[in-house]
Amino acid sequence: MRRCRSSPTAGFKNRLAERAGDRFFSGSGSVPLPFFFQGVPILPPFQFQVEGVDRSTLARVGRLETPHGVVETPAFMPVGTLATVKGLTVEQLRQAQVQMVLSNTYHLALRPGSEVVAELGGLHRFMGWDGPILTDSGGFQVFSLARLTKLNDDRVVFRSHLDGSPLELSPERAVEIQEQLGADFIMCLDECPPHDVARDKVLIAVDRTTRWAERCRKSQRRVDQALLGIVQGGTHLDLRTRSAEALVALDFPGYAVGGLSVGESPAEMYTTLDGTVPLLPADKPRYLMGVGRPIDLVEAATRGIDLFDCVMPTRNGRNAMAFTSLGPIRIKNLKYQKDTRPLDERCPCPVCAHHTRAYIRHLFLVNEMLGPILVSWHNVAYYQQLLRELREAVRAGEGAEFRRLQLARWGENP
Ligand SMILES: [Zn+2]
Repeated sequence: MRRCRSSPTAGFKNRLAERAGDRFFSGSGSVPLPFFFQGVPILPPFQFQVEGVDRSTLARVGRLETPHGVVETPAFMPVGTLATVKGLTVEQLRQAQVQMVLSNTYHLALRPGSEVVAELGGLHRFMGWDGPILTDSGGFQVFSLARLTKLNDDRVVFRSHLDGSPLELSPERAVEIQEQLGADFIMCLDECPPHDVARDKVLIAVDRTTRWAERCRKSQRRVDQALLGIVQGGTHLDLRTRSAEALVALDFPGYAVGGLSVGESPAEMYTTLDGTVPLLPADKPRYLMGVGRPIDLVEAATRGIDLFDCVMPTRNGRNAMAFTSLGPIRIKNLKYQKDTRPLDERCPCPVCAHHTRAYIRHLFLVNEMLGPILVSWHNVAYYQQLLRELREAVRAGEGAEFRRLQLARWGENP
């Protein structure tokens, strides 16, 4: 949505509601917030309504309406890098109660090509998923996977991680690719420096990310996609502030916190969120990119984050690690050889309804493909269940108690 603008009145009401009801669940009285396009409200396709703020933490529950359905927040998006959440059918995603999936601009631009996806009717039709989709801009992969050959303010030139072929990405091209893919939420191109670079390099990345965000917004043509800005700045709170203030002035319909989970400690990440999230508009969705472990989701949601994505449930699932309400288990361990319990006795997912730990362990030991599928499926369902319970706790004003209980259950090694 080019020049998206939240209604000043609604935004004001929301800020008032949040101030008045600070730390209280504010109920259903808040006003749905339309996005504005050149001064005209767009109702639908996108609305975000903060339905309430927790009494005991900064967590909030919300309702994010998209052209492909509603997402209740806080929400977790499993990662479908190559237009598939690895090992799982869209039907299995539905049964795991997934609301929205993430896909990857960089990988899809290389294979099969965004033009090909567009010709085939867009990403929703291509992958057979009719729910909401978010695509990242490709920036993270360009800086982490590709071999950079040239980076300047205009564009980044790199070599493909697949065959070394030269490619380039500019803010305009990143938006064009994402418009061809057709996801509901698309991301600005950003520069995501590694954790260990010097502060002056992070500053350069912050300012470049701002200039690129402005160009992304100007180049957007489709009004049925919401373009989100990405706050950078590493663990430097002054740089996070500089980034957030510049991007908020550009008035995006939502904001992501990028550049975390790139090597900093969990404590550094939480401190960064403490300093960054309050800088983002309360009436717009906030998305923490690429994070993380169940404990990170709870810690970040209680700091006011609404959206998450991470490869962890599926990647760990393929590696025989199951997340459970009592902490992770490594299913190949001998102690599960004759264990007739499900992966998680509290889990309502189809895997836990039908299969034992003993059976799933056996599948891994004999290298049957069903093993990785079942644990990935359960893990994705577990993440959905965790956030569903978190939303219920926030609605009851018990976010802090929920966090305390989860930490106690997960023990020393969450
Ligand atoms: Zn399960």
